[in-house]
Amino acid sequence: MTRNGQTHPPTPSVSRRGVCYVISAPSGAGKSTIANALRAAEPRLKHSVSITTRQPRPGETDGVHYHFRTMDQFQRMAERGELLEWATVFGRGYGTPRAPVEEALAAGQDMVFDIDWQGHRQIRAALPDDVVSLFVLPPSLPELERRLKGRDSDAADEIARRMDAALAEISHWQEFDHVIVNADLDRAIFEARAILTAARLRTSRQTGLAGFVAGFLG
Ligand code: 5GP
Repeated sequence: MTRNGQTHPPTPSVSRRGVCYVISAPSGAGKSTIANALRAAEPRLKHSVSITTRQPRPGETDGVHYHFRTMDQFQRMAERGELLEWATVFGRGYGTPRAPVEEALAAGQDMVFDIDWQGHRQIRAALPDDVVSLFVLPPSLPELERRLKGRDSDAADEIARRMDAALAEISHWQEFDHVIVNADLDRAIFEARAILTAARLRTSRQTGLAGFVAGFLG
């Protein structure tokens, strides 16, 4: 119902290409929590499941959190062009399988990518019209350190390495379309969702509306 009591016909459902929503952050900034909340709020949002050569952590399931593979398998996939992007992080291979991304985007499904700055650069180069990106900053360095120490799954030398890697990751923050500071999780989730909504509504993505608008213009 409108203000004057008239009823509008439903808004047209328009097929469009999916959004590639890349979220990067230093380890411990809360990126996975934000991505999980996004997926819970947006049931049609698909998660790109990466390949990794690292060992599963407690609670991680093959095919859900990562596809866990050997370095040989990983390298063969990279050589065959089966990875849309790949990088070495902490001395281990990480990469995005190409086929699920191409299928999802063509079907108009949006996808969220939890990858690092190297992956962001490569995906942006490969799919320049599809990518919208977000960098998540921690509220402070001491808080980041506290969050990394709070994870009991990683040893002390691993935490020290991650602190160094965090600074390296943060140095790329300006390469991203959007940046948020994760001081308040609810607010960060709200902002991350707003960015996705805006990306979906970009005029260039909604070419399917041309027929609808032609009806207005006669
Ligand atoms: P973790 O081992 O803590 O799950 O991830 C370590 C880092 O690798 C994180 O910064 C994560 O975003 C990144 N990463 C995870 N999957 C991929 C991927 O497929 N490609 C790239 N480039 N980075 C990834």
